[in-house]
Amino acid sequence: MPELPEVETTRRGIAPHLIGRRIVSVTLRRADLRWPIPREITEVLPGQRIDDIERRAKYLLLHTTAGSALLHLGMTGVLRVLPPDIAPGVHDHVDMLLEPAPGERERILRFTDPRRFGSLLWQAPGTTHELLAGLGPEPLTDAFDGDLLWRRSRGRKAAVKLFLMDNANVVGVGNIYASEALFAAGIDPRRAAGTVSRARYLRLAAEVKRILAWAIERGGTTLRDFLNPDGAPGYFFLELNVYGREGESCKVCGTPIRQTVIGQRSTFWCPHCQK
Ligand SMILES: [Zn+2]
Repeated sequence: MPELPEVETTRRGIAPHLIGRRIVSVTLRRADLRWPIPREITEVLPGQRIDDIERRAKYLLLHTTAGSALLHLGMTGVLRVLPPDIAPGVHDHVDMLLEPAPGERERILRFTDPRRFGSLLWQAPGTTHELLAGLGPEPLTDAFDGDLLWRRSRGRKAAVKLFLMDNANVVGVGNIYASEALFAAGIDPRRAAGTVSRARYLRLAAEVKRILAWAIERGGTTLRDFLNPDGAPGYFFLELNVYGREGESCKVCGTPIRQTVIGQRSTFWCPHCQK
């Protein structure tokens, strides 16, 4: 599943080919993905120039003066910028034809999504889509820090891992990144959020930022894949310390990694390194 680093890598990969370009036409090969595709996508978006591409949590917004196309990659979604003469496959649900840059060929932005948990929605100008309302701060901005986590967690009995994965507290910390950040910060994922000290939250926030930034930096080496018609962009994998390693030795202390389920999600931790 594309997590925040993959979505940010996608944004960086497609942005140079889209910003400043006008959308000539939009071809929908289905009426819906996870949700119905609103009529503004075919009635308002064509003719508009893409002024900017923003990532918010795991959403991408193509901003125009008439409104914004709101994209989510779901479980299996991929965006690529391709020549317009590449025939669509069965999972290529949306094409946006882009006006060519001076001296270049036309291109399309193609959205491919075999499982169709992705979405293409519309945000009217000057409004915030309901899916974006109530989201917490971006993890890689100064609005997110350990003090915020500490303040918000006082009195909370939920497991600290669930607290960290709650989009109201910080966005984009998925299951893998939550497990790895808690290991790096030495915090037992089962611990009640309200019992973690301020000092440990400062460490946790720093580890969240470090791990996500590292993953995005590593994804930068795959940017050219967004122009590659053959196969999907090379989504990348962390060198994992705990996630998916149940029964294997902790890379720090050698203790077998344990696994449990918290909030219906697999959770991995080292019982020696994480307290
Ligand atoms: Zn350990």
